[in-house]
Amino acid sequence: MDNLLRVRDLKTSFFTYAGEVRAVDGVNFDVAGGEAVAIVGESGCGKSVTAMSLLRLIPEPGKVLAGSVELAGRDLVKLKEREMRHVRGNDISMVFQDPMTSLNPVLTIGTQLMEAIRQHQKVEKDKARARAIETLEMVKIPSADKRLAQYPHQLSGGMRQRVMIAMALSCHPKLVICDEPTTSLDVTIQAQIIELLKDLKKATGMSIILITHNLGVVAGLATRVIVMYAGKIVEYGPVNEIYGIPQHPYTWGLLRSVPRLDAAEKRRLVPIYGQPPDLLKPPVGCRFNPRCDHAMKICREQEPPFVPVNGNGQHHVACWLQHPAAPAVAGFKKGVPA
Ligand code: SF4
Repeated sequence: MDNLLRVRDLKTSFFTYAGEVRAVDGVNFDVAGGEAVAIVGESGCGKSVTAMSLLRLIPEPGKVLAGSVELAGRDLVKLKEREMRHVRGNDISMVFQDPMTSLNPVLTIGTQLMEAIRQHQKVEKDKARARAIETLEMVKIPSADKRLAQYPHQLSGGMRQRVMIAMALSCHPKLVICDEPTTSLDVTIQAQIIELLKDLKKATGMSIILITHNLGVVAGLATRVIVMYAGKIVEYGPVNEIYGIPQHPYTWGLLRSVPRLDAAEKRRLVPIYGQPPDLLKPPVGCRFNPRCDHAMKICREQEPPFVPVNGNGQHHVACWLQHPAAPAVAGFKKGVPA
């Protein structure tokens, strides 16, 4: 598969009175056409700032400082704002976490959907209405034509999220970024929304970036996972390897701390202790070292390089435990949580 999106050395900082907060600090990843990739990490790890940087929607006092974001070969970082407005919605669109704050409560679903369609496509009102109904049907909203006259508060949380997805898809984007699309929903509805995104990806051929703090929800949708911590990627690889042979102690922590939507049996959840670091003054060496049970002297002195895992060229991790001289980790088989 050819790459649709190619992100290289992306750096985004916020310039506060207290100093520079390096929210995204040298991030590299690719997304192939028709592929779903999950970016996972705790809140404040830089995953949402990465997504907003792709769309150049970083609010003041933030700034994309360096790097490139190539979409189908075109570097979005270099585009004029006018050109970028065309990219948003037409080429890349976004589904946000809370539809109640993203949808306008005083406008009907139909008005909002048709506005979104007409903003990007020069079509008459009746064509926009037909397209709105078609898009609601695509996201499996029953009685689509009647829903057009309803207001957001008349729909359930799951239905509102479907409307947000319909709005994102209304102009056939190549890439949809879903930022915590299921967080405000209960577990059954979460599974339905993930299933819907999976079906839509198959039907439209679009690529998806799923941003989530919950590694438990990605298995049904994403084929690859990128784990972020404190503004940096710490591990990435195929979803079955991130679940099956995770290599980074932070990934182990994430897996232990959340229930899996696809898990057959119940297990005890273990939180990751401590807090993510202050990005005004991140820890020297590995940024996870103050919270890591396996931290060694070198972890507090030098940043670990990425090394390949499993010999397939797809799975990489940045952790000193991979060094041949590192001690074996008690209670773990090589890289596998006990
Ligand atoms: Fe822990 Fe060191 Fe690996 Fe960082 S590099 S995750 S501190 S073992």
